[in-house]
Amino acid sequence: MANKQTILVIEDERNIGNYIDTILSSKEYKVLRAMNGKTGLSLCTSHHPEVILLDLGLPDIDGMEVLQQIREFSSVPVIVISARTQEREKVEALDGGADDYITKPFGAEELLARIRTALRHRLHTGQSQSQEPVYSKDGLVIDFERRLVTLQGKPIHLTQIEYKLVSLLAQNAGRVLTYDFILKEIWGPYADTDNQILRVNMANIRRKLEANPAEPHFIFTEIGVGYRMLE
Ligand code: CA
Repeated sequence: MANKQTILVIEDERNIGNYIDTILSSKEYKVLRAMNGKTGLSLCTSHHPEVILLDLGLPDIDGMEVLQQIREFSSVPVIVISARTQEREKVEALDGGADDYITKPFGAEELLARIRTALRHRLHTGQSQSQEPVYSKDGLVIDFERRLVTLQGKPIHLTQIEYKLVSLLAQNAGRVLTYDFILKEIWGPYADTDNQILRVNMANIRRKLEANPAEPHFIFTEIGVGYRMLE
């Protein structure tokens, strides 16, 4: 491939860096490595990577601070990669401008899927219109223009709020959306809402869309963080 896409990996743990490098290099990505935040920031300005994988626990600058500095001059997709499993930090990173996160330990397929999603999202940034006219996956079809939802060819009747929720998730398929983000998007920034209203609506949606609502196939819960729709 003549035009390899560049992924910048800011990660101080050599083993994990090597692991990521091996996975990405085998898939025709060009990998740039930084062992600390300072080098990461300078490689970001000099090489304009297509995606950045950012470890939150770095030896010199905190990962959140690195993210903040990147966001001052670039909208490059940033996937936060961390051993930290605390939901608060994931939410903080997403609200701080990260596009997604991946928790160690992770497999090659998961990593590659997150990168593909980030790259696709990057191609669409700047467009305010919905990216695709239709979401179609495993028999679930959402026609955004006609506001129609069908499952295995049968129309699904959603309330207005339910439809808004499903289409928001579908238009961001593959990305995690935080509870706060969803609440603001659907009910507006000043609405007096909480996660409970979201959970109730999601339960209703799952009853209508999922064969087994307890083990969802289309819309996944990212515990303590938000929801992610099947890409
Ligand atoms: Ca680290």
